[in-house]
Amino acid sequence: MMPSALLSPVLALAAASSLMACAGTGLPTATPTPMTPAGSSALAIECDGVPTPPQTEGPYYKTGSPERRSLAGEGGGTLLTIRGAVTDEACNPIAGAWVDFWQTDATGNYDNNGFGMRGHQYTDSSGRFSLETVLPGRYPGRPPHIHVKVRAPGGPVLTTQLYFADSGSVDAGVNPALLVDTTPEAGGIGGNFTFVLRP
Ligand code: FE
Repeated sequence: MMPSALLSPVLALAAASSLMACAGTGLPTATPTPMTPAGSSALAIECDGVPTPPQTEGPYYKTGSPERRSLAGEGGGTLLTIRGAVTDEACNPIAGAWVDFWQTDATGNYDNNGFGMRGHQYTDSSGRFSLETVLPGRYPGRPPHIHVKVRAPGGPVLTTQLYFADSGSVDAGVNPALLVDTTPEAGGIGGNFTFVLRP
């Protein structure tokens, strides 16, 4: 019997296949482009309703990042576009959610003096965000990752990190729930990610 549901969440559990999808070489070089618009509302939201797990903030977070959707001009390396959404546990999109990203450049270095590779944005009326950046580099002890804080209006802050199936290798211990299943696309690689927030 078909359950009645307003939404038919697309299970985003591509983790298993993602772990086998890593291609280590031949990634195109980033060609930064002007700021991208917010995520297209035509894209289906991939949502399994499972709250996105938190991860440690790490030592390099800075408050006061600029509001922008593109960091790609500063990072070098492989252009990476992440399109996604913020939802609640019922997969309802959350408009106006604050999403603050910070990461290394392609060589694995943070900008701790300025705001290079740091930026925040708000989800659009359909709960979508879009980040144009570069694949972060590896630094000692860490696989390539992007730190992020997400907060629905009036809600608590989720602090977590994203990892990439196409980063050359997927380290043991990376939580598959935080893996962005990237695929090649014009100019670089891209993937989708949905942050599912608890109230
Ligand atoms: Fe880090």
